[in-house]
Amino acid sequence: MQSIFIILIVLVIFFVVVQKRVIKSDELKDSRYKKRAAVLNGQEVSFLQALQEAVGKHGVIMPKVTMTKVVSPIATNKKQWFISNSRIAKSYFDYVICDPRTLEPRVIIELDDGRALDKGKTERQKLLMHVCKSANIPLIGTSTKHSYQVGRLRRLLAAHIDLIEPDQEVRFCKKCQSPMVIRVATQGEFKGRRFFICSRAPHCNYTENYNVVFDE
Ligand SMILES: [Zn+2]
Repeated sequence: MQSIFIILIVLVIFFVVVQKRVIKSDELKDSRYKKRAAVLNGQEVSFLQALQEAVGKHGVIMPKVTMTKVVSPIATNKKQWFISNSRIAKSYFDYVICDPRTLEPRVIIELDDGRALDKGKTERQKLLMHVCKSANIPLIGTSTKHSYQVGRLRRLLAAHIDLIEPDQEVRFCKKCQSPMVIRVATQGEFKGRRFFICSRAPHCNYTENYNVVFDE
């Protein structure tokens, strides 16, 4: 019994000494760094440029923003907070478009690089969708296929930031060909978002989402 105690004490002393040694050698000057070639890869840069053209001065685009900068957990206790926080701590958003005056996040953009869907990618998409839905931030998924289509990007973004001047965007009703007008939803899931409605309403009930994309 006594020998076990002695062994334990020796072990504890050994670990304390080793730990102190390790901490001692872990000085800041021992860690050295080199500058990376570019902050984003070529594909990401091309997309950023297209996005910049689409957004203009209506938003500030921030690439690769850690999730914890944009959202924070809602939790009733410390444990829950820690669990929720650790889920997002190492993840980032591809692009965050912020209000140019307040820098409040307005839209999240995920750029699909066209890689096959593997476990990691599926997990990321699940997390992204959950986080954005939970925090009520619009999430737009876009593929590198469409990355240079500035007009398309503009339409996708138009529901969330004021990019299209209402009088410049003319649409016609798909049912009766009358011009359509823009209204703001006052209730339901899309409350606060703009949508097109046939000018003959209530005689014609055709509506369109503001961000509907028609590839004509
Ligand atoms: Zn109509």
